[in-house]
Amino acid sequence: MTPLHYRIEPAEPAAHRFHVALTIQHPDPAGQWLTLPAWIPGSYLVRDFARNVLTLVAESGGEPVQVDQVDKDCWRAAPATGPLTVLMEVHAFDTSVRTAYLDSERGFFNATSLCLRVAGQEHVPCTVDLMAPDANAVTGRWRVATSMRPVEAEPWGFGRYGCEHYDDLIDHPVEMGEFEIVEFVAGGRPHAFAMTGAGRFDADALAADVARICDAQVALFGELPCDRYLFLNNVTADGYGGLEHRYSSALASPRRAMPAPGGSGRSDDYVNFLGLVSHEYFHLWNVRRLMPAAVANSSLTAPAYFDDLWAYEGITSYYDDLGLLRAGVIDAPRYLDLLAKQMTRLERNPGRYRQSLAESSRLAWTKFYQQDASAPNAIVSYYNKGALVACALDLTLRRETDGACSLDDVMRTLWARYGRAMKPIPDAAIEQIAGEVSGLDLTDFFDAMIRTAGEVPLPELLADFGVTASVRPATGPEDTGGRPGSDSTGPRCWTGLSVKGQRQPRLTTVVDDSPAQQAGLAAGDRLVALDFEEATPGVIRVLEQRRAPGETVDVHAIRGDRLLHRQLSLAPPQDNTWTLRMDTGADEAVAHRRLAWLGASVAQVSEAG
Ligand code: ZN
Repeated sequence: MTPLHYRIEPAEPAAHRFHVALTIQHPDPAGQWLTLPAWIPGSYLVRDFARNVLTLVAESGGEPVQVDQVDKDCWRAAPATGPLTVLMEVHAFDTSVRTAYLDSERGFFNATSLCLRVAGQEHVPCTVDLMAPDANAVTGRWRVATSMRPVEAEPWGFGRYGCEHYDDLIDHPVEMGEFEIVEFVAGGRPHAFAMTGAGRFDADALAADVARICDAQVALFGELPCDRYLFLNNVTADGYGGLEHRYSSALASPRRAMPAPGGSGRSDDYVNFLGLVSHEYFHLWNVRRLMPAAVANSSLTAPAYFDDLWAYEGITSYYDDLGLLRAGVIDAPRYLDLLAKQMTRLERNPGRYRQSLAESSRLAWTKFYQQDASAPNAIVSYYNKGALVACALDLTLRRETDGACSLDDVMRTLWARYGRAMKPIPDAAIEQIAGEVSGLDLTDFFDAMIRTAGEVPLPELLADFGVTASVRPATGPEDTGGRPGSDSTGPRCWTGLSVKGQRQPRLTTVVDDSPAQQAGLAAGDRLVALDFEEATPGVIRVLEQRRAPGETVDVHAIRGDRLLHRQLSLAPPQDNTWTLRMDTGADEAVAHRRLAWLGASVAQVSEAG
């Protein structure tokens, strides 16, 4: 028997309740302290998992033991002479990949939601019995998908699993239910998808594409530090997200993103999904083994503050799409469209002038993770700007060292120095290593990019790599950047009215200095009429295509229970949408740089037009 043993049972699917029993062989003789984490690594929001604990009691030798809840996520059991067993009922009805869920169709959990941390025994091994549900209480034939190590369990089976310590336990999410398994090999090791709710899709195409992407990321670091890897993917109508772990990741994705059987080509939705897969897989190195010290040393009871989140999420966001290009699942023009979309997102985000990347990183807890309608004017995303700064850093290193050094070299050095031994990384270590590996003084670069709010000088850098960046107005609400469709005609004017819904559409955001803001409109207002015509998204679009800058429009809107009447003065269309094209006339040195960065040959340039 291990010192700690958890028994987890999907006991009441209809009521969404797990029953959990924890047996502590040697409880603290002075009384045992127990806690649940307030947050889960990889998601920087205090979620207070303990609020879903419905009951908690304890017993020892068949006798009840007094337990007092001390604060929102901490308990103390009275002294016991023998093994102590703690029994909990936990409510689980959140479909997020960060929490726990149970109904008659499926169960899912992170141990942060179900498994108590035993004070003083954080580093001892534990076993976990995953119990099968009552077959009459669930639909289908349930199996188990987890990267946890089996002790007494068949592959994909209920039974006994084992973990090295508490931090290991909370790093293996568990899916229970009916799912499809897609297996493949990457980096010479077994990999698999457990697909829940995917319907019909082309499993062979998916396995082939993902294997190539994983191989491309393994090639960057030169080694795969795990003997197996599992993607848990819960497919729904419109889910999207992921949470990274060392041996697995938990994904949520939309059904339309699955490759269609017999389909040809890779749809934009499918490429987005491959980008998510690439992103979470890259995290098995960057953030799960290359670990920020603030997270590695956290007890998960209070927020961990650090300024480098941009490096963990931004660098990963740069390499996710680049990994698709390196794997050959997209070509260089399509990669440049994805990069242009990142540039467009930042261009439309006035908050970049108010918040630096270091601030965005440190305040993720209260700002990025708790966004309201003012977010585009107030904050900048450490994913979005972080990815563009990672790209700018890569291009700067390549250009200034004549190709001798790239961001790849910085990542490999970080890996050798910190990641391989999972040594926690202090803030700004990446800046220091980038300078050391390249021999460049990057102080001004990092001060400007990380600690100062403002622009990323990518257009200038891209020109030195034979890529022309041009900015233009959006052709419509669906235009998020990249090469525009051939039939698209742009608007003649700008209203600043971004809306959701058809009848009385609601203003979603009102960006700074837009005609909508100058007219006194606010996010949340419901548009009633434009020039006395009922307001719909279609009417806004026609108005922007037919009217001219300088003209005014009568706007009626409802805020709360009041009808507002405002005059909106139309502005010229905003140049806020980037397109990137490979420059056909690039000289030899420039073409050589581009080839080293994108692997893009002259042939691809002429194909792309
Ligand atoms: Zn991420």
